[in-house]
Amino acid sequence: CGIVGIIGKTPVAPQIVEALKRLEYRGYDSAGVATLEGGKLERRRAEGKLRNLETKLSQAPLSGIIGIGHTRWATHGKPNETNAHPHATDRLAVVHNGIIENFRELKTGLEAKGVAFETETDTEVVAQLVTYEMRQGRGPVEAVAVTLPRLRGAFALGFVFSGEDDLMIGARHGAPLAIGYGQGEMYLGSDALALAPFTDEVCYLEDGDWAVLCRTGADIHDETGRLVQRPRHKIQSAA
Ligand code: GLU
Repeated sequence: CGIVGIIGKTPVAPQIVEALKRLEYRGYDSAGVATLEGGKLERRRAEGKLRNLETKLSQAPLSGIIGIGHTRWATHGKPNETNAHPHATDRLAVVHNGIIENFRELKTGLEAKGVAFETETDTEVVAQLVTYEMRQGRGPVEAVAVTLPRLRGAFALGFVFSGEDDLMIGARHGAPLAIGYGQGEMYLGSDALALAPFTDEVCYLEDGDWAVLCRTGADIHDETGRLVQRPRHKIQSAA
């Protein structure tokens, strides 16, 4: 339902929660954050209100300076902690808005190759597909690039990867996604409103676009993989 991603300079979990709060009006049943802690992805997730996630974070803080967060409005799989995003493998974590229509057939195909699933969500198939491609030797960007054309439905996605503290990938396919430009920091959001505390300069991805973000900027590709330029807009900053 709500996606936020930050490649920052200081611990990002508090900023991610702050941004998710700005999307609360959209409704949600659970929430979660993943950040990179010394090269390894760690998650905190909670059913119910963001307050519950904040309690978990205060008991067991995350200190990573790159991370993604999500508020979930369940479409596939009960609203509980296991099914809450981010979904993760040993290679990556992903947040997702919308629906992967063909997830059952993709899941069956992966299970036939020995992949074990942990959740009931359509989203986990994305995490497992990209992970599978990485195990075949592909890098994160290529693994996402070959996976996106296999997904059907209306969705937006945000990825971070184990061992990659300067890489985030966002993809837009029928659900909105914006990139925020900061000073040596970059942001991803399903709604520019969520990014207003951090930056007043955003770019809305067009349908089919996917973007590779690092601290100093973003490379945007259209659905054919071609590098494209998208206009940047000034928004009202809440900072
Ligand atoms: N279809 C996904 C799920 O049920 C994402 C739903 C959403 O947009 O929050 O987990």
